[in-house]
Amino acid sequence: MAGTAPHPEAIVGPIRDIARTVAQLSPATPHAEALLAAALDAMELDSKVDFGVIAEVAAQAERIASALGRADLRMRARLVRAEALLSEGDAPASGRIAHEALDWAVGHGHEYVLARGHLAVSSFRLHLGDLPDALAHAVQCVTHTGEDVSAAVRARHLSHLGVTLCESGSLDEARRRFRDGLDIATAIGDADLSVRLLNNLAYAVLKSGDATEAQRLVAEMRTISARRGAPLSPAYLDTIARVELVHHQYDEVEATLGPILDGRAGPVDDLSLAESLLTVAEARRLRGATTTAQQGLDRAREVCAGSDLQSVRARIREEQAQLFAATGDYHRAYEEYRLFHAETQALQSAQSEARARTLQAVFEAEEARRESERFREMAQRDPLTGLHNRRYVDEQLELLLRQAANRAAPLSAALIDLDYFKRINDNLSHAAGDAVLQRIAELLSGGAADSWLVARLGGEEFLLVLPDTDPGTAMRRCEEVRQAIAAHPWQPVTGALPVTASIGVTTVADADITPSALLARADRNLYAAKRSGRNRVVADPA
Ligand code: GH3
Ligand code: MG
Ligand code: MG
Repeated sequence: MAGTAPHPEAIVGPIRDIARTVAQLSPATPHAEALLAAALDAMELDSKVDFGVIAEVAAQAERIASALGRADLRMRARLVRAEALLSEGDAPASGRIAHEALDWAVGHGHEYVLARGHLAVSSFRLHLGDLPDALAHAVQCVTHTGEDVSAAVRARHLSHLGVTLCESGSLDEARRRFRDGLDIATAIGDADLSVRLLNNLAYAVLKSGDATEAQRLVAEMRTISARRGAPLSPAYLDTIARVELVHHQYDEVEATLGPILDGRAGPVDDLSLAESLLTVAEARRLRGATTTAQQGLDRAREVCAGSDLQSVRARIREEQAQLFAATGDYHRAYEEYRLFHAETQALQSAQSEARARTLQAVFEAEEARRESERFREMAQRDPLTGLHNRRYVDEQLELLLRQAANRAAPLSAALIDLDYFKRINDNLSHAAGDAVLQRIAELLSGGAADSWLVARLGGEEFLLVLPDTDPGTAMRRCEEVRQAIAAHPWQPVTGALPVTASIGVTTVADADITPSALLARADRNLYAAKRSGRNRVVADPA
């Protein structure tokens, strides 16, 4: 896949505005986080439409979310991409992302990402034909869809649960979800969503044998689309034609699917085209037009020849058997039916093999990711104390400063250097020095708030970064740290030698400063603390 998003001008439809918003976003844009969140809201609603474009826009949204340090938005962007990848046919990549994001959401207890993660995993499992698992995740998706989620998103989550129930054969349960979703769509006046739910409902109703109710629902779909002056999406035409077929409205079937067969509906994928040809062939056979029925079937076979559509190919054989029987050629009908049966069985075992292979690929990649994350985490830690190291500070400080600037919040940083530490090494041992450093790390971590960054920069020098902390508070916190170190019972470790620290603290009001300039300011104050006698805290001059 290409690495950059297509130019927004080259895109049409609602996704165009989203693509433009995302293309113009940078971490420095005012309200960048809110704009990105809004773009994700919109993409989540339409990820199956324009999926080729969505995948690229989502990748870009992901980069901006990373730059903003918003892991939740990054996960949402990744999940949008997962859905687009599934539509593109890259199920393994989709499954990997879906599982990874769900993992993150579980680890962070993030309700909305949990709902979206379960949805993506469910779609992936549904694609593989793993119905029990797809259903379990679809239920989890709806369970985690909280009260604060928009009505449109709630309706879509219900719709997905309905589709999964329908595929699993729980038609009553499926219909209930579609009706609930439809009530929501009607209440918020979302015509697209209403038609989508009516289509799903009509399909389930037809499957449960209520042809009359299915017909009523299809009429409602037509009414809504006529009122809007927009043709029904090709995705819905086959449902409509199937309803007409069971009502013996064979001419209507031809009329409904005509736009797909002759290209008026625009480009459609091979699966939809082949299915439409099959429906039309069946309608022709049923009204006695066996010659044109055969033509339709031949064309369906051609469409399948170029693609990997074994399940449609098997259904073509089944219809071919019926057609031979309709023309009185029972011998060939029997032969064709035998082949249909053999192909269906082969298909089922091939499908379960493919399913196993895809799942294995997803979980192997998942393991590799966990391993590499472990190494990455190790590379960011100081082995002696377990605190974050200089490398991590270099990565993180810039981000913390940017977040402070975006929020117009103050940020304080304190450099802590142990006093006469060399004496401990020299008079006792290097091991004693190490023990002191480890004890200091425990004291610093133990006294730190969750939002603080605690790091060992090297030697006996430590750093605290205190987001949202004004000069007065920073001074008090540093004084507590200094006293905790001085008052610690060091006797068992260092005998008669005291352990104290000097601290230089600085605060930036608007955070418009580079990391190295921030550290230089703290270092200047640390130097002043050393010079004026050690075991003290020095802040910025008033
Ligand atoms: P000051 O009060 O001026 O900071 O004096 P100091 O002795 O603490 O400063 P100086 O920079 O002269 O000495 C730091 C010592 O820290 C030198 C080095 O041997 C020791 N050191 C650096 N890293 C480690 C380590 O990982 N373990 C141990 N045990 N000692 C270390
Ligand atoms: Mg020192
Ligand atoms: Mg030092």
